[in-house]
Amino acid sequence: MCYAIPAKIVKIDDNTAIVDYFGEEKKILLDLENVKIGDYIYAQGGISVRKIQEDEAEEILKIWQETFFELKKTDEALAKIDQNNLPKNALHVLQNINLRKTIKKDEITTLLDLNLTEERKVLYEVANNVRQKEHGNASCVHGIIEFSNYCQNGCSYCGLNNQQKVTRYRMSADEIVATAQHAVDEYEFKALVLQSGEDYFYDDAKLIEIVKRVRALGVLVFLSIGSRSKELYEKLYDAGARAALLRFETSNSEIFKQLRPGTTLDDRLDLIKSLTKMGYILATGFMLGLPDETTEDLANNILLTHALQPEMYSFGPFIPTKGTALESHQSSSIEKVLNTIAACRFVAPSGNILLTTAMETLSPTSKRDALLAGANSMMINLTPLSYRKLYNIYDNRAGIDKSIEKSIQETTELLYSLGRAPTDIGLN
Ligand code: SAM
Repeated sequence: MCYAIPAKIVKIDDNTAIVDYFGEEKKILLDLENVKIGDYIYAQGGISVRKIQEDEAEEILKIWQETFFELKKTDEALAKIDQNNLPKNALHVLQNINLRKTIKKDEITTLLDLNLTEERKVLYEVANNVRQKEHGNASCVHGIIEFSNYCQNGCSYCGLNNQQKVTRYRMSADEIVATAQHAVDEYEFKALVLQSGEDYFYDDAKLIEIVKRVRALGVLVFLSIGSRSKELYEKLYDAGARAALLRFETSNSEIFKQLRPGTTLDDRLDLIKSLTKMGYILATGFMLGLPDETTEDLANNILLTHALQPEMYSFGPFIPTKGTALESHQSSSIEKVLNTIAACRFVAPSGNILLTTAMETLSPTSKRDALLAGANSMMINLTPLSYRKLYNIYDNRAGIDKSIEKSIQETTELLYSLGRAPTDIGLN
């Protein structure tokens, strides 16, 4: 969005480039024709998105120059840790992290189970410190457009499953493109997630058209359309989509089988792996707190996400929805979510960890808390308000009636207050 800084290309190596932000260098995938060393571009999620004219870039950089270094100072101050206060049972784990040793499953469970306030405080401080060391104060903000709430699946956790009696909507290609165009022209978004249930109304031709038209606006097109065919994902890559969000939901195949009838964990994982092979920037992860989930399952979820080598970790707490089979199952606590963010940060120090709406729904301070526990990336909901309240994947979703202007204002204020700058995170 408007919270974005142009980067200067300083080195090109086949399809990757090193870009510079005020002396800080990041590696990105170069996905633009006719760019050379010295050109300015916008990058999002580790990939170049759009070229920007030199005079325009230099003007923007002039405005950012002072602010960037101010923000850096704030971030560095917030990322300091008091080594003397480390909890004993986590001390050796945290020392291993500092020594860059691989963290074992039992060490992850130790971190996930920390529950004393003082212990958790230190856990989050160390995670934030690791984030800062790896990424400096870089942070990215994507927009999301939820274009259809129809779904053919019967996932028992989801408020949009095919048994739920909800008012359904579909946005036409023109509506989706107009929403995207507004996000680009009015709010300067550079990356847009297009999300829906598994809705076969949008066949290959319709989705190809939508992707081509949204990509033509000069943004990163990020798909979140569920388990559609590999052939379709290939066609959408050719049409210009470059990132895909597909969670495996749980690493426990028994829980998966029970909650997602007619689908298997193996098939979902096979598709996720194929997306990476096709060249997509991958975002994947899980829900926490599903019925029968143990701390070991949660550690396995983190390790499986890591094994899939995503550019982005996307996970969030399960939240119940009236009318679903899991309506009486309780959400996990915000503390467990924050512990999970911190554990992910230690397992993947250079990972990009997304702060999700479900986290925000659990607690009003969770955005700030998550960013200070290792998260570094956010999304703003751009779905038109008339549709947004119908995209009820779970009850009481945060932000369903918040205007885009208000969301942008709150997000930029929060990021500023934490010293985070909109430089791209780059590739892992
Ligand atoms: N249909 C696509 C898919 O399956 O990936 C994208 C839409 S789906 C609604 C997006 C994500 O919402 C899912 O991957 C799931 O993790 C999350 N979700 C669904 N129901 C949820 C619930 N009750 N609480 C929290 N997250 C939920």
